[in-house]
Amino acid sequence: MDHPGSETQEPESSSMKMCAVHLRVQAVGSCYFCDGNFCIDCVTVVSGFGDDKTSDYVNTKVCGNCRGKFERIVREQAVTLKSIFLSILLGMVFSCLGAAVWAFEAARSGKEREVIAIGLGLLVGLGVKIGAGKARSYLFKGISCVIGVFAFLLAKYLTFVTFVNQQFETGQVSNFRIPYFSSASLDWFIEQYPVNSSSYDTIWIAAVLLLAFVVPPATRAKIKTPIDN
Ligand SMILES: [Zn+2]
Ligand SMILES: [Zn+2]
Repeated sequence: MDHPGSETQEPESSSMKMCAVHLRVQAVGSCYFCDGNFCIDCVTVVSGFGDDKTSDYVNTKVCGNCRGKFERIVREQAVTLKSIFLSILLGMVFSCLGAAVWAFEAARSGKEREVIAIGLGLLVGLGVKIGAGKARSYLFKGISCVIGVFAFLLAKYLTFVTFVNQQFETGQVSNFRIPYFSSASLDWFIEQYPVNSSSYDTIWIAAVLLLAFVVPPATRAKIKTPIDN
């Protein structure tokens, strides 16, 4: 009848941590933020990826009081029309800046420095990231990649017009220039691009895409309820 030792298998109350809310219920863990011990009903599992130092963790336990902090982060990181608009706007502004630097450098040195593609990809990604603000989504990575391709082609186009005009300048037709903003120049570029482009263009456009994809953050803070582990 008597099972010796059955009593001693119970954990001693001194070493047993109880929930700070439900004082008679055993705690399953402590809150990441306030260090309080909480039972399974009081604990929420969250994953956070934010801009501050406390926000990079996966499947971390927090208590009910600290959960509010997370609900705010989750709300802030949601995609809004404003964040989409601003990410496109800043991405475009930065892409034009990058393409202008590319063409300017080509005009200055007389040759195209494709390695600027790395800077171009970073710049576009940064523009989209700043525009998106606290919002996070793979949508911004997509926007960044599309603008990255645009930026690369714009850089190629501006360089094309620059070089054509430089050739006119050094050639006999010294008074002739093709304008940067004209559909005729654009048509000529489109016609000439397959002829002028090198196989390295694929590598450089891949570099732009890679960096434009990597820079804007996409992983969002998550709240998991109830705990499933
Ligand atoms: Zn807490
Ligand atoms: Zn509790």
